[in-house]
Amino acid sequence: MSEILVVGSLAYDSIKSPEGEVAKSLGGSSNFFSVAAKHYAPVRVVGVVGDDYSESDLNVLKNRGIDVSGIQKVSGGKTFHWQGKYEGDLSEAVTLKTDLNVFETFNPELPAAYRTSSHVFLANIDPELQLKVLEQVEKPKLVAADTMNLWINIKRPVLDRLFSKIDLLFINEGEAKMITKQQNAIAASEEILKMGPKAVMIKRGEYGVLLRAADGIAVLPAFPVPRVFDPTGAGDSFAGAFYGYLCQQGKSDFNTLKTACVHGTTMASFTVEKFGMSRLLEVTPAELETRRKKLLEVANFSL
Ligand code: AMP
Repeated sequence: MSEILVVGSLAYDSIKSPEGEVAKSLGGSSNFFSVAAKHYAPVRVVGVVGDDYSESDLNVLKNRGIDVSGIQKVSGGKTFHWQGKYEGDLSEAVTLKTDLNVFETFNPELPAAYRTSSHVFLANIDPELQLKVLEQVEKPKLVAADTMNLWINIKRPVLDRLFSKIDLLFINEGEAKMITKQQNAIAASEEILKMGPKAVMIKRGEYGVLLRAADGIAVLPAFPVPRVFDPTGAGDSFAGAFYGYLCQQGKSDFNTLKTACVHGTTMASFTVEKFGMSRLLEVTPAELETRRKKLLEVANFSL
């Protein structure tokens, strides 16, 4: 049986967008990723929270059958808190404040059962922690990672080491250009493949995704959502459905990566419809299937 091991943030997010704001709502790269991926495959989480993290928030994962035995609760510690805002066309999150809190001293220790995971997803978090987790997995079949501007700015040498050890990279367009010093997403994708990953998914917000691998290039638009409330977690839910699909299929050839883009795009389109995780938590398999078919119609020009 294949299963996904994920490390990333479990967070409380305070978010402002032109549609409103929320304070300390449940978020974090691991939470969005895991809920999306569990639609396709078994998921186990490594992470850390403070004692302000409520049981009901932990149950969001537990009640979906996600393995949370790798989540440490630090007594007297505070959960990671991210404050961000979106303006204009909502294409980019502006970080107002990042309180790492319990992540400052986090030393990930994988439970024995986690060490044989077939698929590893290193969700957005300090790349040193991503590497520490990866080192503890015995023989992963596939390793993927996500990252963000903060780590490109302050931990570039560690990211370079990470990139040499992964198969797939998920990255925003602005960050792909920043890390490669290229002005163009296609050129940036070529440079990223030279840094180690065998495929890169460049996320372009409402313009969709660019997939680049040694054997091809593909572009898929986002599902046309008329009213975006909050793009937070869109990237992680894209990655969750994408990677969950790869794990379920047990392969990662170019055509499977293309189909995974369709699943990822469909999942992400639900996440942005409400603040925080609320819409993602409600979405049903039937809704996913209906929208996946609609997305294929919208993107089909071979008439
Ligand atoms: P995205 O899918 O890119 O919109 O990711 C949004 C999530 O990333 C939010 O729920 C945040 O809690 C989380 N996040 C923001 N900054 C960081 C960071 N520096 N490290 C880890 N997670 C973060």
